[in-house]
Amino acid sequence: MKFSDYSFAPEIHKSIDRLGFVKPTDIQYKSIHPIMRGEDVLAIAQTGTGKTAAFALPVVNHLHSRKRNARRPDGIKCVVMVPTRELAVQITDVFNEISKDTLVKPFCVFGGVEQDSQIAALQDGVDILVATPGRLFDLVSQGYLKLHRVETLILDEADKMLDLGFIKDIKDLMKFLPNKRQTLFFSATINKKIKELAYSLVKNAIRIQISPKDPVSKNVNHSVCFVEMDDKRFFLERLVEENPESKILVFVRTKVRAERVQKAMERVNINSLTIHGDKGQKDRLKVLETFKKGEVNMLIATDVSARGIDIPGVDYVVNYDLPEQADNYVHRVGRTGRGRNKGTAVSFCSTEERELLAAIEKYTNNRIAVIEIDKKDYSETVDFSMDASSDWKTLLRDAEEESKKSKVKKPAKRSAKKGGSSKKRR
Ligand code: ADP
Ligand code: MG
Repeated sequence: MKFSDYSFAPEIHKSIDRLGFVKPTDIQYKSIHPIMRGEDVLAIAQTGTGKTAAFALPVVNHLHSRKRNARRPDGIKCVVMVPTRELAVQITDVFNEISKDTLVKPFCVFGGVEQDSQIAALQDGVDILVATPGRLFDLVSQGYLKLHRVETLILDEADKMLDLGFIKDIKDLMKFLPNKRQTLFFSATINKKIKELAYSLVKNAIRIQISPKDPVSKNVNHSVCFVEMDDKRFFLERLVEENPESKILVFVRTKVRAERVQKAMERVNINSLTIHGDKGQKDRLKVLETFKKGEVNMLIATDVSARGIDIPGVDYVVNYDLPEQADNYVHRVGRTGRGRNKGTAVSFCSTEERELLAAIEKYTNNRIAVIEIDKKDYSETVDFSMDASSDWKTLLRDAEEESKKSKVKKPAKRSAKKGGSSKKRR
């Protein structure tokens, strides 16, 4: 089936053409019709398979068909809840793109920034509101936002939204929503407990699940190599050296590690960006933009930014540290191989991380392919690094800097590519 066979309004077809979509993906094919019929849907499909358009297309089409005569929005009709601000912006962009030739008005609100401009925009009228739960709750409880006309509630990254950190906010917000409404859950991962919770919140949800056995996207070629903790930076350096044009997303365990890896890369003239919870909101969005545009080719991130983010053309995902929660593995490696693209993910597993690897393999029902590194190759990778940090002065300086605990990070000034050294590996 092609998109041209769908009974969408001409304005929606125009947007689909502009987006370059020809055929619906599996999840779009299976969920668009039930959503158009008004059913509750729980949809589980791998990362990068177009879940956003799967809910955005039928929702915008429906609101557009009803709005032809009513220009001004008469209340929010659809609320999309997401776990992060970056994701709120990204999903709003997709809604905007699809609504471009219609009168439907999407908007997004999230915390960490002033709320005044958000309030002003809300007063102009909004049809579709994409939001993080905290800010949404604040605006509702201050009376700036009314949700009594909402017809569709969507939880993207549903398992995260129904998990401990968010469930209270979500339940509190549900009290403001009409009981009679359509509820849609979308996610790449879900567990039994969360699934039961989701069902308890709706009446007769249709469950749509694509590729249930292996949650890792089939577009991602993923493998692991055994690298000791202190040597990881040399292997990252080598990856960049061998793939100088590639866009690389590196995941680390903590904010401090992110800054540390950035420093290690700086020492070998590799420019990188970091994104984590300690950064201000504006900073985070700017960093993502810079990486998206390809102005800097390496982004070092903590899990906070793994969920749902769609960055075009990420060639490599590197699990510099293995994730402590196995489902995060799926979300991390799912930042590459999106849409019709293929991607590569590699995990650096140290001796102390073997247990985490076993947990990931259990979770994904699969053994992860091992890249064998022979001893000679391993020691060459370490020895040929341009990093001079084994010299005691550098180590001392680093230790001093860390003890100052300066959290604010200035953007690195160096060039995005490596240069300067005539040192040749192999
Ligand atoms: P998910 O939420 O499933 O992880 P997204 O909705 O972020 O995935 O979409 C991933 C990428 O696939 C996006 O860049 C999107 O533009 C692209 N995409 C979505 N649907 C289609 C389609 N039918 N044909 C081609 N590309 C698509
Ligand atoms: Mg998504």
